[in-house]
Amino acid sequence: MKPIASSSKSRRLIYVLLLLVIVASVTLSLVMERTAHNIRRNETPLLNRTIPQMRYLGDFESALLRYQLALDKRFTNSITPGRFQFLEAMGRGELDATLAQLRPSLGDGPELGALRDGYQRIIALTPEFERQVDRDPAAARAVLIRMNDEVKQLRLRLDGLQQSVEDAIYDNGTMANRAIGWITGLVHVFDVLALVTCLFMLYHVRARVRVEDELSHQARHDPLTGLAHRRSFEARLATLPPAPHVVVLGTIDRFSRIIGGFGHAFGDRVMIGLAERIRGAAERNGGEVFRLDGANFAILYQMECSDLALADALSVLRDEVRNPYDCEGHEIYTTLSLGAVAYPQHGANPDALLRNADAALQAARKAGGDRLEIYSQQLNAEAGERLDMEALLRHAVERDELELHYQPQQALTDGGLIGFEALLRWRRLGKLISPAEFIPLAEESGLIVGIGSWVLEEACRQISVWQAETGQRVSVAVNISPRQFAAPGFLAHLENLLASTHVDPSCLELEITESVMVEDAESAIALLHRLRALGLKLAIDDFGTGYSSLAYLSRFPIDKLKIDQSFVRNMHVSQQSAIVQATISLGHALGLTVIAEGVESETQRAMLSGWRCDEIQGYYYSRPLPAASALNFLEGSLQLQAA
Ligand code: C2E
Ligand code: MG
Ligand code: MG
Repeated sequence: MKPIASSSKSRRLIYVLLLLVIVASVTLSLVMERTAHNIRRNETPLLNRTIPQMRYLGDFESALLRYQLALDKRFTNSITPGRFQFLEAMGRGELDATLAQLRPSLGDGPELGALRDGYQRIIALTPEFERQVDRDPAAARAVLIRMNDEVKQLRLRLDGLQQSVEDAIYDNGTMANRAIGWITGLVHVFDVLALVTCLFMLYHVRARVRVEDELSHQARHDPLTGLAHRRSFEARLATLPPAPHVVVLGTIDRFSRIIGGFGHAFGDRVMIGLAERIRGAAERNGGEVFRLDGANFAILYQMECSDLALADALSVLRDEVRNPYDCEGHEIYTTLSLGAVAYPQHGANPDALLRNADAALQAARKAGGDRLEIYSQQLNAEAGERLDMEALLRHAVERDELELHYQPQQALTDGGLIGFEALLRWRRLGKLISPAEFIPLAEESGLIVGIGSWVLEEACRQISVWQAETGQRVSVAVNISPRQFAAPGFLAHLENLLASTHVDPSCLELEITESVMVEDAESAIALLHRLRALGLKLAIDDFGTGYSSLAYLSRFPIDKLKIDQSFVRNMHVSQQSAIVQATISLGHALGLTVIAEGVESETQRAMLSGWRCDEIQGYYYSRPLPAASALNFLEGSLQLQAA
């Protein structure tokens, strides 16, 4: 789009041009008016004077010629004396009359005087001619010759007068012509100016229309991907005819991982590429794609949900996203989760359709992503259950329904107790609910931040109690969820807690998962440094199941690696045992303590011990115990140590 500065510049230019056109138009009108006035003022009196003057000069000359003709005819006796006298009198009368008519235009000036004198000289010779004509033709002829000379003189004078009138008319015409020529020039200039203004305005209007088109496109589309956005989607949905159609909501699984790993600019480039793939794949199968926000899309298909074509279309869509995407030398692997609803079976209006499509999408994501979930009533029931559970969990802390169990951890070197892992339990109506059931919900709803604070406080309280009761410093590992870790105030809360409970920070171990380093590695590393500076111990939980980056791992200021129980469980498979051995070696190479969790058998313990794993945790050593039992376990172990 054109920058605003240049558009305002062109608008200013248009105003200037329009002003020029207006000024030129007014000036032109004034000039034309003035010129016309001048022409009228000069021309009218001239024409009023000269046109009759020309006519009377012509009349005078004609009368003169007729008078001369009468003389000639009398001389040649072609007419009788009587007739001559009649013609002579008539001719004189005509000449007198035309002289009188010439007076107003010629005035009483020398021209009229000269005419009158010449005429009178001719008249004066007429009696002499009459006397001689019958008596002495030679003398009459001489008089006639003199008279003819006079006529000739007079005609020359008449010609001169006529010529000067013509000259005056010509001069005036030339002046008028010049004025008209000047005006015509001005009109041309004005035309050019008006034309330039029109062309420029046309150009400006076209540019404006283009900008308006672009703006209206932008108003309906997402600027990053160029796809129609959420409001366009809602508007489209609201105006769809009541014919069967399918609304699909999609999300690119764990897209935040890409942003966390490579930054927002890189994430944007990947998003552009993926959006293009989704659009291409959807449109090939008659779908319309909208980008709702972040990594979320909507696709609209005007077909029946049961159509085989739809299943194909959605599978093509997922295949497209699953194909590795090469961006700046990085091979990016992503997947797409889809939730689909059909009109009218799954909702009679856009609101219901969207709500149910979202429930289907959430189910697809919860099931691990990279899958299509088609809406069913049961999904809503599950969503309702989740909501109920969330409402109950919200009050769990204040109703004192949460408790911590403690699972002992054993050193493989001497078999002694090294500490406990605090594991949360929710006691609801006499039943213990596993954290596996409610931690993801707490995480999703944000309740984990409050619950996590309670766990930390309870663990610290327990450390103090055990220390008071046994006189020993007891280590407790506490699980920290990614959301709790990233919550503002996490560090401050820990500092206050350590200060208020006087717990030795080295007794408290925080277990974080690899996912915290994926979201925003730099700030995670910074926070880990500050936690370590407080004297806390740090462990990476479930190591090997997340998106481990060895580069980041070496930069993480941690103390311990916890090998995930899934590897320990499958250690009889050679591949898995290789992973466990490699992890132990890696941990030691990085100067870390390595603990294996989920150890259930002597065989597993022996294998781990053989590979020089430092510590174990699992049912083999002890199940998680309520605080009182954990104290007994602790005292028993202290006695063993003392023995
Ligand atoms: P985790 O941190 O990996 O904890 C270990 C889990 O493995 C515990 O399950 C524990 O009871 C179980 N376990 C221990 N030894 C064995 C064994 O030998 N065999 C088998 N099959 N399982 C064993 P639990 O207590 O159900 O906790 C599940 C997960 O819930 C924990 O995994 C942890 O991620 C989360 N969690 C527990 N307490 C908290 C907490 O206070 N805060 C947060 N954020 N998460 C917690
Ligand atoms: Mg743990
Ligand atoms: Mg674990």
